[in-house]
Amino acid sequence: MITDIPHFIGGARSAGGSSRHQSVTNPATGAVTGRVLLANAADVDTAVAAAQAAFPAWADTPPIRRARVMFKFLELVNQHKDDLARAITVEHGKVFTDAQGEVARGIDIIEFACGIPQLLKGDFTDQVSTGMDNWTIRQPLGVVAGITPFNFPVMVPMWMFPLAIAAGNTFVLKPSPIDPTPSLLIADLLKQAGLPDGVFNVVQGDKEAVDALLVHPDVKAISFVGSTPIANYIYETGAHHGKRVQALGGAKNHMVVMPDADLDQAVDALIGSAYGSAGERCMAISVAVLVGDVGDRIMPKLIERTRQLKVLDGMNLAAEMGPIVTEAARQRITGYIEAGEKEGAKLLVDGRGFDGKVAGDGCGQGFWLGGTLFDHVTPDMKIYKEEIFGPVLSCVRVPDFATAVQLINDHEFGNGTSCFTRDGNVAREFARRIQVGMVGINVPIPVPMAWQGFGGWKKSLFGDMHAYGEEGVRFYTKQKSIMQRWPESIGNGAEFVMPTAK
Ligand code: NAD
Repeated sequence: MITDIPHFIGGARSAGGSSRHQSVTNPATGAVTGRVLLANAADVDTAVAAAQAAFPAWADTPPIRRARVMFKFLELVNQHKDDLARAITVEHGKVFTDAQGEVARGIDIIEFACGIPQLLKGDFTDQVSTGMDNWTIRQPLGVVAGITPFNFPVMVPMWMFPLAIAAGNTFVLKPSPIDPTPSLLIADLLKQAGLPDGVFNVVQGDKEAVDALLVHPDVKAISFVGSTPIANYIYETGAHHGKRVQALGGAKNHMVVMPDADLDQAVDALIGSAYGSAGERCMAISVAVLVGDVGDRIMPKLIERTRQLKVLDGMNLAAEMGPIVTEAARQRITGYIEAGEKEGAKLLVDGRGFDGKVAGDGCGQGFWLGGTLFDHVTPDMKIYKEEIFGPVLSCVRVPDFATAVQLINDHEFGNGTSCFTRDGNVAREFARRIQVGMVGINVPIPVPMAWQGFGGWKKSLFGDMHAYGEEGVRFYTKQKSIMQRWPESIGNGAEFVMPTAK
């Protein structure tokens, strides 16, 4: 029997009032595992009303007590981390060990949010004028919403709600309908941790739910993570309706390999970061920029390693790569491989022939592709310009470092990038000159830690603050400045000139 995957509103699961729904599949087998309800505007209204009702008391709760709920939640997530990872693998397809890593990176942010009393501390200036002091506090915004992508159904929501809630806001999460179940596990754990009903809500849904959130007058801020066209739409629509918006978009991440790099380390880095999670990571390396003679030296190793990838059912602990998330995504990626061939890139390893039957029992009808490797890709090709979001690595050959930097800076995306070298000056120049938000030196996937903040540049982020870290705290709070004096220091008479320090 196919079970419904409901909303979570006001502390309880809810069927809502919409009759629309969407199938949820296990990408490894192609089997339908459930059907997720798709909220309508009335369901969104109900969730926002629950969050709005919970806001005054939660905002008034001392930060240390909000932090204690986060500590309890942290403990529960640690106890249930493998349940969360399993729920990710079943609906997303990524290999279990990778899903465990996703949960671990989410836990980092909960730990950061546990420090909220310290993070919310304001500034105080004694004696800005005689007898007068001035200080700032940061207060929560109200109801805030998070709209998240399929590729990190636990970690990306955790980029958002732990800080938002710890800062005193109430939250409505709209997860991807492709892998909706982890959101409900999270909701259950928050409730068990003692979070008051209505502080965290989940509306399952698609564009209809998103559009209702974007125009809802009681939603004060929207955090979005997803593809660039939708991020752009969310940013413009949300801002037009007076909301604070942070919209993280797509990517095309380049890894430069300099002639002095350790080639075996560079190969390990490229294989792991291009094919890990089947390339469905916004920080995946999808372009290798091979400088000078690196192309000829590295290519045999890359071909061999791509062919040897262990593409298996994600629950198999030997798996390096699992299936593609949906059949539609598999077809989109296949279309890119065809386009690359037509445009004249050299297809060295073709993942299209991969037969799911070898991935595990019952995998014959799953959404499988092997790793794909292109050489001699050029900047005018569609496979270079667009985000493929699959296990396809494109190699571009360039004569020197300056051309590599220019190539990356000319790309419209600017999420992550990496440079493999042993030369300190090259590393320093790369870090300083590159027009990308997150940079790795000999680190292929430089996802910043919880207290550092995450965000790309150019078309990889719309808005001015990065996710989590101190910018995350600022995003979810507004600053208030307070000036105070007492009657003893107030002079006689009305003042008509601009007040100045006395
Ligand atoms: P997506 O843009 O299709 O969906 C993201 C969210 O938007 C989902 O909740 C979805 O239901 C909703 N949505 C989809 N179409 C919509 C529409 N027309 N109107 C309103 N809402 C809509 O993205 P995805 O396929 O789920 O995720 C993959 C994308 O996310 C990739 O582009 C990837 O680079 C990006 N991503 C970026 C980051 C980052 O930090 N920059 C992190 C993870 C993923």
